[in-house]
Amino acid sequence: MAEKFDVIIIGTGQSGPSLAARTTKEGMKTAIIERKLFGGTCVNVGCIPTKTLVASARAAYMARRGADFGVVIDGSIVVDMKTVKARKDAVVRQSNEGVTNWLKTMENLTVYEGHGRLESSTSVRVNGGLLETDKIILNVGARANVPDMPGVGDVDYLTNSSVMEVDFLPEHLVIIGGSYIGLEFAQMYRRFGSRVSVVEMGGRLIGRDDEDVSAAVKEILENEGVEVRLNAECIGFEKRGDQVAVTASCDPGPEEIVGSHVLLAVGRKPNTDDLGLDKAGVETDPRGFIMVDDQLCTNVPGIWAIGDVNGRGAFTHTSYNDFEILAANMFDDDPRRVTDRITTYGLFIDPPLGRVGMTEREVRESGRKALIGKMMMARVGRARERSETQGFMKILVDAETKRILGAAVLGIGGDEVIHSVLDVMYADAPYTVIQRAMHIHPTVTELIPTMLGDLKPLE
Ligand SMILES: Cc1cc2nc3c(=O)[nH]c(=O)nc-3n(C[C@H](O)[C@H](O)[C@H](O)COP(=O)(O)OP(=O)(O)OC[C@H]3O[C@@H](n4cnc5c(N)ncnc54)[C@H](O)[C@@H]3O)c2cc1C
Repeated sequence: MAEKFDVIIIGTGQSGPSLAARTTKEGMKTAIIERKLFGGTCVNVGCIPTKTLVASARAAYMARRGADFGVVIDGSIVVDMKTVKARKDAVVRQSNEGVTNWLKTMENLTVYEGHGRLESSTSVRVNGGLLETDKIILNVGARANVPDMPGVGDVDYLTNSSVMEVDFLPEHLVIIGGSYIGLEFAQMYRRFGSRVSVVEMGGRLIGRDDEDVSAAVKEILENEGVEVRLNAECIGFEKRGDQVAVTASCDPGPEEIVGSHVLLAVGRKPNTDDLGLDKAGVETDPRGFIMVDDQLCTNVPGIWAIGDVNGRGAFTHTSYNDFEILAANMFDDDPRRVTDRITTYGLFIDPPLGRVGMTEREVRESGRKALIGKMMMARVGRARERSETQGFMKILVDAETKRILGAAVLGIGGDEVIHSVLDVMYADAPYTVIQRAMHIHPTVTELIPTMLGDLKPLE
């Protein structure tokens, strides 16, 4: 006999647990299913562990730079990778246990630990049992993509999940992929003491951002000794004893990078291949992402997809925002939509990049009349005081409406500073509001009004 629920949630990523808290609070008998670790990618193998490791890497970097600040370290600086990992594990454990306990003690919620699979548009099988409902929410996320590159099956490689188990220093880490995930690991391992090579197929790093941002990020990494190989159009792998040879060039007599370890950081694949979507008739796009409308409904009434799996975002904040949109539509008579949100994200190298809205390239392509302001971090007092002057900030404004179109802050505090721009964009206020605001001295944010006071037409 099938057990009946008012709602079934598959996956406990960044939106499923919060949604369960809401549906149970609304009195709905709710089931939630998790096949692996409660809290999903961000908590266990994504944002939280990487940022914890980034913090260790920064401590190593600052220790080496101690003398620049007059701090003399009398002895060598050694990174103990076992302690680095143990610290990361402790932070992750706390978050994972928080979500686990939250779900397991939630009233009106039944937690299933197993793989959930749709049997029809109203039923889900888990651990041999059948659950029935007229509302199914899919929060199944994504996993590391392992591309079909020549030789990839013949060599050992790390992904963002397996690299979390590393408690030693790789001698030479070759990272395939020069985007957000790959670059965070690149700088981190370089700071731990590994030789690091980044192999990127495209002509520049973080290809979706503007060229000046990509170039500055490359320079920051190269200044620390990360080796960057762009335009690697023919990536392949070959075992060489206990090392791995990575080919990059398509030309005969291929140029090789021989490393001790390889990390694949080449995108994410939605967890939809074993979800029974065909039995429910749920449509996906050619890459396997579940197609949803602006309010996260799939093509099948009564089934919604939230988080990375719908391809409308690839971040913790977009997944959580999906929960807010769905809850507002379901319970609050508030028709929030995905298209209400403004694109924003961070790249957590050091110094970090905070991004919001349109890139300069997108503004140019839109053909509208725009103004641009740019300021090098070397001009920012706060950055000079801290001897961390790499990077710049820039902002784009619609010349007619005076609304901010987009901004990038690459420099110390960039991931935080960007929010002062983001909030004005959400308020739909003209840029002159920030320009006239009095900010705290000495901060990076205080230079945003100055930058806005010196806008030039975008040629
Ligand atoms: C290395 C790395 C660093 C990152 N850093 C950041 C960052 O700094 N900031 C940021 O915003 N984002 C970051 N991200 C992205 C962020 O982790 C994801 O966007 C976010 O976790 C997506 O959450 P989600 O809710 O879609 O699902 P997920 O967190 O992916 O969770 C999905 C859950 O569903 C479970 N599941 C899947 N299929 C089934 C099934 N059939 N039955 C039962 N359970 C199932 C999975 O086991 C998983 O627990 C990072 C990602 C990585 C890999």
